[in-house]
Amino acid sequence: MSSDKLKPVFDKLFPQIDELKPDFINVLKQAVEIPAVSSDESLRPMVVKKAEFLADQLKSLGFHDIQLKELGTQPPPVTNPKLQLPPVVLSRYGNDSNKKTVLVYGHYDVQPAQMEDGWDTEPFELVVDEATQQLKGRGSTDDTGPLTGWLHIVRAHIEAGIEFPVNLITCFEGMEESGSLGLEELIGREATGYFKGVDAVCISDNYWLGTKKPVLTYGLRGCNYYQVTVSGPKADLHSGVFGGVIAEPMVDLMQILSSLVDSQGKILIKGIDEMVAPVTEKEHEIYKKIDFSLEELNEASGSNTALYKTKEDILMHRWRYPSLSVHGVEGAFYGQGAKTVIPAKVNGKFSIRTVPDMDSEKLTQLVVDHCNNAFKKLGSPNTCHAELIHDGAYWVSDPFNAQFTAASKATQVVYGVEPDLTREGGSIPITLTFEQQLKTSVLLLPMGRGDDGAHSINEKLDISNFINGIKLMGAYLHFYAASPEN
Ligand SMILES: [Zn+2]
Repeated sequence: MSSDKLKPVFDKLFPQIDELKPDFINVLKQAVEIPAVSSDESLRPMVVKKAEFLADQLKSLGFHDIQLKELGTQPPPVTNPKLQLPPVVLSRYGNDSNKKTVLVYGHYDVQPAQMEDGWDTEPFELVVDEATQQLKGRGSTDDTGPLTGWLHIVRAHIEAGIEFPVNLITCFEGMEESGSLGLEELIGREATGYFKGVDAVCISDNYWLGTKKPVLTYGLRGCNYYQVTVSGPKADLHSGVFGGVIAEPMVDLMQILSSLVDSQGKILIKGIDEMVAPVTEKEHEIYKKIDFSLEELNEASGSNTALYKTKEDILMHRWRYPSLSVHGVEGAFYGQGAKTVIPAKVNGKFSIRTVPDMDSEKLTQLVVDHCNNAFKKLGSPNTCHAELIHDGAYWVSDPFNAQFTAASKATQVVYGVEPDLTREGGSIPITLTFEQQLKTSVLLLPMGRGDDGAHSINEKLDISNFINGIKLMGAYLHFYAASPEN
């Protein structure tokens, strides 16, 4: 459907959203004031309190079938073995078989925050900064602001007397910042239960690439994390006594680690390049249009250490090529001073960010074989063992499907520009779970900007992003409802 047909709807809806701005900020304020830090066991009652706060809000808006789904006790390591996981807030708005059903995901838990960390204002108070037109506080952008946006768009429809275009289902979790424990299982259980009939999933929990241009995100890299262990002597030894007469595990490990990747970022493990999907013409076009520069990368890294100079090279290596990072060595001497120890056993940790069409199992085989071969070449009497610690798959969607097309039209209506189509170098594992379990398309529709400081101090959400983000959610739902296919 063209924007013209929906124009009367938006002409009524958008001014209504503007008018409700103080109310929307007030609801966000109340939500931010609850310190729902999921990683802090002592604050678990606060996480639950925030779930109940949301349930009350949903109820007052006319959502039905509201359920606080319990996920059982939190698995170890925990101080309190009886610690309950925070509930997932499920609810519905509308139940019309003639309408499409959209599931919206968000998380109400937040990262820890304290004044001592360097915040300018109390992290668990939403501060409306008139000068910068920003909302400051923990959760403002990650993810309480976007999450409450879904409630606000319903409110705006009610107040403006506009029929809601789809059936909405909420899936709000309280454990995202702590590994989304229990959520995958819940989605699996509810795929044919609460989530039956879902046509599309929309997640608003990432950010624009920069600070000016809205984006839609269609891909995420996966991550395979490895450990390679070299063991030698029974215990740590003194180099004055044993140096030069025994084989040192650390020396072996350093050579194995340096055989994985070169200083230009090129992965040296044979067979990986062959698994990477070739770049298509259409992809080249997408990258050309994206608003990004080398300067932005340098600013973000706080250095001049970029391996690539062009926008396309930088973004492709961040989003659509694999990368290998060496993270650390367990068991090694790492403190200050000049300790003359020979570590007896060391674990080197590294990970590979994965992309289409890499197969996790095959990759692990290549990695293990590579480490074993590299070790064998050393002719060392020590022992070496390489293994996978955990893996999470990559995700990539069709950025021109019905959902993305609807979101693109919505962006043009709200922001007056075509959104950049971005991917991300990191992972949001639940994206793939939704896609696979519900067999639907997933759209990542960010509200905030790249400089919001999601896990950092002085987290903020620009008021314009908040208000336009709510309009965007509404316009997307209308365009999607009107699109001929799912
Ligand atoms: Zn988040």
